[in-house]
Amino acid sequence: MSIASAKEMLVEATKGKYAVGAFNVTSLIQLEAVVEAAVEKKAPVIIQTSVKPSKFLRPDVFVAIYRTLASQAPVPVCLHLDHCTEVAYCKTCADAGYTNIMIDASKLPFEENIRQTKEIVDYCHAKGGISTEGELGTVSGVEDQIKVTEDEAQLANPKQSIEFVERTGLDLFAPAIGTAHGVYKTKNPKVHFERLEEIHRLLNGKGVRVPLVVHGGTGLPPEYIERLIAVGGSKFNVSTELKYTLIDSTFDYITQHREEYDPGKIDVAAKDATRAAIMHWMDMLRSPGKA
Ligand SMILES: [Zn+2]
Repeated sequence: MSIASAKEMLVEATKGKYAVGAFNVTSLIQLEAVVEAAVEKKAPVIIQTSVKPSKFLRPDVFVAIYRTLASQAPVPVCLHLDHCTEVAYCKTCADAGYTNIMIDASKLPFEENIRQTKEIVDYCHAKGGISTEGELGTVSGVEDQIKVTEDEAQLANPKQSIEFVERTGLDLFAPAIGTAHGVYKTKNPKVHFERLEEIHRLLNGKGVRVPLVVHGGTGLPPEYIERLIAVGGSKFNVSTELKYTLIDSTFDYITQHREEYDPGKIDVAAKDATRAAIMHWMDMLRSPGKA
C-alpha cells in the first residue's frame, strides 16, 4: 500500500469499471486534503503537480511530503508529474522520486513525439517502478475547445494511437477526445466518446495493457463521466476545480473573518473545502472502497 505504481492501480480500475482521480496540487494543504479524502473514502488516488508548482516548491520537497503522507496512508497513493514538455525536467522528477511522469510532446510532429516519449519511457523503466504517460492530439484550453473538437485532425487518431503506444512502450495513454482544460463554457461540451471507445478496444480489447487517461475533468457533467468510464477512461485529471476551491474558500474565510489574523484557521477552511471537492469526485468516479 501507500507508495504505488499508477499502471497497476489503473489496470485494476479499468477492469473494475471505475476510475481513479488525479488531483493537481500546488500546496501542502491540498496534498493533505487529497490523502485525507482517499483515506476517508478508502480510494486509490493520484496526486499530481504541473511543472510550475513542481519547480516552485522543488521536486525533492514534493517527494518528501508525498512519501511522508503516503507511507502513513492505508491506501495506494501516486505522485505524478503532469504535462511536462521538457525531457530534462521529466528525468529530474523521476530521479527525485515521482512515481509517474507525463511527457507531453503532443504539440510536436508525430515522429518527434514518439522519440521524446520513448526516451522518457526508457529512462523511467530503467530506473524501475515509474509509470509513464504520453499524449496524442490536442487537449486544448476551453478557449479552443469548440475549434478543436470540430477539427478531426486535432483529436487522437485511433490507428496512430496504437502505433504511438507500441513504438514508445508507454504505460498510460492520454488521447485527445475533445475534453479541455479550464471551465467549459457550454453545458454540453462536445466529447468524442466513440473515439475513446475505439482506442480502448484496439489497445485493451484482448486484456488491459494500457489504461486510458481523460484530461480536463473539471466541469464534465456526471453522465459524461459515467460514459467515459464505460468506454475505458480510468484516470481523470482534475485541476481547475481545485484551484477555484482553494481560492474561493480562502477568500470567503478571510471576508467573513476580516479582523482575525490566524492563518491556521484559513488553512483549515481551505483544506475542508478541498477535501469535500475531492470526495465528491471520488464518488463520481466510483473509486470509494476500491483501495
Ligand atoms: Zn491535462
